[in-house]
Amino acid sequence: MLSVPEAQRIIRANVQTLSVEVIALAEAHNRYLAQDVCSPFPLPRFDHSAVDGFAVLASDTAHADMENPCKLKVIGTVKTGSFPDAPVQPGCALRIFTGAMLPPCADAVVMIEDVSIEEETIHLRQPLKSNSNVRRAGEEFRYGDICLSKATRLSPAAIGLAATLGAAEVSVFRKPRVALIITGSELVELGESLDSAQIYDSNRYALMTALSELGIHHIVVYRCPDDEAAIRNRIEEVLSSCDVIITSGGASVGDLDYVKPAILSLGGTILFDKVSIKPGKPTVFATLNGKPVFGLPGNPVSALVTYLLFVKPALKFMSGAASEHIAPHAAILNTSISKRTSRTEFVRAKTFRDGNTEFVAPCTGQESHMLGGLVSANAFIIFDGEPRTIEARALVDVLPISWS
Ligand code: AMP
Ligand code: MG
Repeated sequence: MLSVPEAQRIIRANVQTLSVEVIALAEAHNRYLAQDVCSPFPLPRFDHSAVDGFAVLASDTAHADMENPCKLKVIGTVKTGSFPDAPVQPGCALRIFTGAMLPPCADAVVMIEDVSIEEETIHLRQPLKSNSNVRRAGEEFRYGDICLSKATRLSPAAIGLAATLGAAEVSVFRKPRVALIITGSELVELGESLDSAQIYDSNRYALMTALSELGIHHIVVYRCPDDEAAIRNRIEEVLSSCDVIITSGGASVGDLDYVKPAILSLGGTILFDKVSIKPGKPTVFATLNGKPVFGLPGNPVSALVTYLLFVKPALKFMSGAASEHIAPHAAILNTSISKRTSRTEFVRAKTFRDGNTEFVAPCTGQESHMLGGLVSANAFIIFDGEPRTIEARALVDVLPISWS
């Protein structure tokens, strides 16, 4: 059976980054840049004050002390957004505000809190170094520097920086359009009443929410009974208008598992249909008309764990993110755990610190239908190898859970 990294490599080799589009910056949250964004001017744009105070010549203040304050005459004001209309002369100062342009000749700003003001004169009781409270043009980025590189995710900070540069539009990769096909004749929509052998369709909500965490909002959702023709018809119908198909349920080898036959009957290629993992063994990955199809197991925990391990990285790559490898780190197990299979178990767990030491505690409810454990988990313990018990206080590999 394929290991998790082998399955991830197969997926990675069969997905491509989507096309590029230019969109308004205001619409670009969570998109990935398709090209570097360079600075059209130095940042900061001009020398300016970092505080409210007085622009001075630092050399004027060299001998200031408590007994002999330096006295400077205030000869005017520089407001934010206005060009200073006079230079600072020796023995003089200009009142200045945070963000206002430093007037010619001034090389330091004294904070308003650090002076006393008598009539039109300020008294300084300490010398000021040149450049104090001054932000210099280009100290962060020079003209032409790369401020945001290709494949950067447009986070709130990145959007802020792009706006600082005046980028009203940005060139980004398209986000995948996703078709979710939820299979299972036992499933009922929320709001409807349940017959005795029915359950609510929870995977629809869980997976839609997971997609929205990635900033994917173009989603169509259908539910199909356990019927090969119904599943095949849905897949065929959505194929041309989506970039990725995700199915839920029916991916195993039971008599009611029609996802694989449906993909095959449409001419798709099944690249794998099992992964050596628990939960989530019956995970299918296929391509159909060049588009990836993920057949996730129906058990709610399995669907989300396999989404995190297989679907999320593919969707991010298609969206233009650089491939990322998040390495597990070591933590101390706080109670013993056992495994009965030789598959890699992803044990839902919670990490916590005691001083400088990180511990990890398995959550209660480790079966693949028990979502409660995943709700309280912030990490997986990766429990590899042959069936065995790991005793408390052993070091184990821990992978943080991240939905984004
Ligand atoms: P399957 O993978 O179709 O064999 O389903 C495995 C288990 O997951 C069964 O107990 C199903 O009832 C349950 N299941 C399948 N799909 C869903 C869903 N959308 N929401 C909640 N449970 C589901
Ligand atoms: Mg089913």
